[in-house]
Amino acid sequence: MDEQKVVGRFAPSPSGRMHLGNACSCLLAWLSARSKGGEIILRLEDLDPERCKREYSQQLEEDLRWLGLDWDRGGPEDAPEFQQSNCGAFYEEALHTLEGQGLLYPCFCTRGELHAASAPHRSDGGFLYAGTCRNLTEEQRRERAKLRRPALRIRVPNQVISFTDGNLGPYAENLAEHCGDYIVRRSDGIHAYQLAVVVDDGRMGVTEVVRGSDLLDSTPRQICLQQQLGLPTPRYYHLPLLLAPDGRRLSKRDRDLDLGRLGRRMSPEELIGRLAALIGLLERPRPVRPAELLPEFSWERVSKRDVVVDGDFFG
Ligand code: GLU
Repeated sequence: MDEQKVVGRFAPSPSGRMHLGNACSCLLAWLSARSKGGEIILRLEDLDPERCKREYSQQLEEDLRWLGLDWDRGGPEDAPEFQQSNCGAFYEEALHTLEGQGLLYPCFCTRGELHAASAPHRSDGGFLYAGTCRNLTEEQRRERAKLRRPALRIRVPNQVISFTDGNLGPYAENLAEHCGDYIVRRSDGIHAYQLAVVVDDGRMGVTEVVRGSDLLDSTPRQICLQQQLGLPTPRYYHLPLLLAPDGRRLSKRDRDLDLGRLGRRMSPEELIGRLAALIGLLERPRPVRPAELLPEFSWERVSKRDVVVDGDFFG
C-alpha cells in the first residue's frame, strides 16, 4: 500500500521580524517533513491588515533561506493562494457549509460586554464565552443589527475532544468548558485564525502541523472544525515553549532574539546548532546546516518540557 505523502508547512505571520521561536518551529517542521521525504509549504498568515506588512513577508523568505530551510510551494513570490489575505473566498465557502448545518450565529457583544458577561479568565488569558447571543430571536437579531455589525460565532459541542500529540502525548479538552462558542469571522469582516488555518491545511493537503505549544489549546477547536467541514485531521506536533532566563515566555518583544540581531552575532550554522542543542537534537552546540541534522532526527529526542534560552543567545 502506498504510504501517504507527508506535507508539512511553515505558517508564519508576517507581523514582525522572525524570532527564535519561529525559527525553532520552522526548523522542526522542516526536519519532520524532510526526514520522511515530505514536502514543505510556505503559507503566510497575514489575515490582520493592521499587523501584517508585505516587507515582513519578503524578510521572512530571506530569513528562511538564510537559515537553510527550503520549501516546495508558497511564499509571496508564488501563487497568491498561499497568502491568507487573498483567500477570503475559500473561508466564505467554508462558512457557507457551516451555515448550512445551522452551526453559525451572529454575535453583537462588544468587547466591554464580553468582559462583563464572561466567566473568569483562565490562567492563559483566554475566557469562556457566556453564550449571550446564542439563542437570540430573529427579531432581536434584526434590532441589534441596526446598531452594529456582528461577528460570527460557531456553536461548539459539549463533548471532550482528544488527540495524541506527536511530541507532547495525549491532550483533551471540552470546548464548551474551555472557550465556548468562538469567533470564526470578526465584526470587521476578517476571518478568524481558527477558520483560516483549518481551511488552508485542508485545501493544501497538509498532513502534519508543527508549531509552538502556545497553540496546543487551539488544536481541539481545529479538529472539531475539520470534522464539521469533513476535512482530514493532520498529525500535530507541538514544541515546548522557549523561556527567557527569568522564566518569562519569549515573544516578538524580545527584539534581541529576532533574526536581524541574531544574524549579526552568529552565522546561520551557529544559530541552527545552538537551537538544535537547546531543543535536544544535539548534545552540545556546534555549527551545522539543517540537512546535517536529518539522519539523526527523531521526535523522541525533542524536548517535551519548556526550555530556557541560555545567555549565549543574547547580545
Ligand atoms: N501563524 C501562526 C504564528 O505565526 C502559526 C499558526 C499555526 O502554525 O497553526 O504563530
